[in-house]
Amino acid sequence: MATDTGEQAWKAKYAQLSSDIDTQRRHWETHEKILCRAIVRLTMATQGLDTTIDNQLTQIRDLVRKGVHSAKLLQQLDQLTESIIRIERQGKPLDAALLFQFLEYCATDEDEKADLRRVRGRFESGQLADAKALFFTLSQLEYSREKDTKPSAKTGILNKLFGGNRKQIDAATLRRNLIALLDNLEIPAAEQLRSGRLKERLLAELDADNIEAVLNDLVGFLWTIKTNIQKEQREIEEFLANITDKLTEMEIQADGVAAMTSEVAREGEAMNTAFSGHMEELRSSAQGATDLTQLKGLLHSRLDAIARQISGYRQRETKRVKEMEQQLQGLTSRLQSMELEAGELRTKLRVAHHTALIDSLTALPNRGAYDERIKQEYVRWRRFGGPLCMLVWDIDHFKAINDRFGHRAGDKAIAIIGHVLASGIRESDFIARYGGEEFVMLLAGTEAVTAAALAENLRNAVKNCGFNSEGTPIPITVSCGIACFQPGDTPDTVFVRADRALYRAKNDGRDRCQVAADGSD
Ligand code: GH3
Ligand code: MG
Ligand code: MG
Repeated sequence: MATDTGEQAWKAKYAQLSSDIDTQRRHWETHEKILCRAIVRLTMATQGLDTTIDNQLTQIRDLVRKGVHSAKLLQQLDQLTESIIRIERQGKPLDAALLFQFLEYCATDEDEKADLRRVRGRFESGQLADAKALFFTLSQLEYSREKDTKPSAKTGILNKLFGGNRKQIDAATLRRNLIALLDNLEIPAAEQLRSGRLKERLLAELDADNIEAVLNDLVGFLWTIKTNIQKEQREIEEFLANITDKLTEMEIQADGVAAMTSEVAREGEAMNTAFSGHMEELRSSAQGATDLTQLKGLLHSRLDAIARQISGYRQRETKRVKEMEQQLQGLTSRLQSMELEAGELRTKLRVAHHTALIDSLTALPNRGAYDERIKQEYVRWRRFGGPLCMLVWDIDHFKAINDRFGHRAGDKAIAIIGHVLASGIRESDFIARYGGEEFVMLLAGTEAVTAAALAENLRNAVKNCGFNSEGTPIPITVSCGIACFQPGDTPDTVFVRADRALYRAKNDGRDRCQVAADGSD
């Protein structure tokens, strides 16, 4: 039983191995077919590069068709490898015969064929160093033809060589240029995503079928960018117009302020210059700017500079105004104290003037006061007319009084007589101590007769005043000359007449009054 079991196990194992080997063989056969097909295709593809290699490739192809197990195949592959290495070492020029045959076959007209023959001649005479130079020359040939407007340009040599895939080559160039366009374009931040997507589509999808759709999208995108730029431009213009208005307003204000004082004018001029500079920079920056954000930044920094300038200006202005206020305050208080002083001075002057016009002995107006008053009365008389009489008084034999009773008694007599005379006239009348023991009266509105009567009363009053010296009665009298203003008179002429009348009164025995004859005395 044990032996049966062992045999069965071995059989099963053998069957399994046999099945595995079959599977493996099928794999190898498949791989061999693929390998042979690849070798055949490779040999066909590389045919025409070199005659030696071409022969080897033909032999390899034949061997491969018989199967890859052939030892000869290995030998041939080794020889091929050696040939390729040799060509590489020697730098042997390529045998381009097959290529030129193919190209000439593809050529559609005689011009193309002539071009190809010319290139072939250059290549075979060694003017084109290697395959790279050859292909470059061929591509140039195609390029120069493309630049022509000949209808044949579209069916050029390389078009044929690449089996009508010319559209893909155009698309690649186009794609390259469009991507470069997108890369060089200044794209607003909001449109970056769309630009990225478009670039991806250009890289991945562009071919003859979808080129129209992609180009449409691209044109739409460029239109959006253009619209954005126009919108930005408008915003910039509005922004600048607004800023310009504000700056102009500030310039006007600065001008107004500048007119106030010379110092302020200098400041204002500096401000204007600064403003003009800022405006000029803004204008030139605005012309060169394409990005609103950048421009706004620039404008804000410029406005900051202007604001700082204005702030500085205001600080200086405030300080200046404060100083001016202090100065003004100082001036005002000085002016007030000066007014006070002036008032005091006026009072003093008035008092002084009054004092100057008052005779200290009699407290009556003095000669100076008379001079003033006679002028006023004369002006009034000339203007309004009416009677105006002048009375000149003189104490009789006064020298004798002085001599007999002393100078002090004489003074006292002068004061008493002045008082008696002044007490007998109206307030509107005037009396002055003219000098020594002489008095002058001005009676406005009083006729000569009335004046004479008044004078007579006064003369009697003096005579009866009871003047004495230490109890001793001293007889004392006065004489008076009266003259009234007549047409053509001046104060002097009237005085002279009154004085003459007084002289007559003295001559007539004193203690009497004499009225001057009109204009004669
Ligand atoms: P007549 O009657 O002619 O006027 O005689 P008279 O003595 O008054 O003569 P006259 O007018 O020439 O003399 C005036 C005198 O008055 C002279 C002078 O000494 C005196 N006299 C003048 N002023 C004063 C004064 O203020 N005080 C005193 N005591 N005497 C004076
Ligand atoms: Mg006298
Ligand atoms: Mg006298």
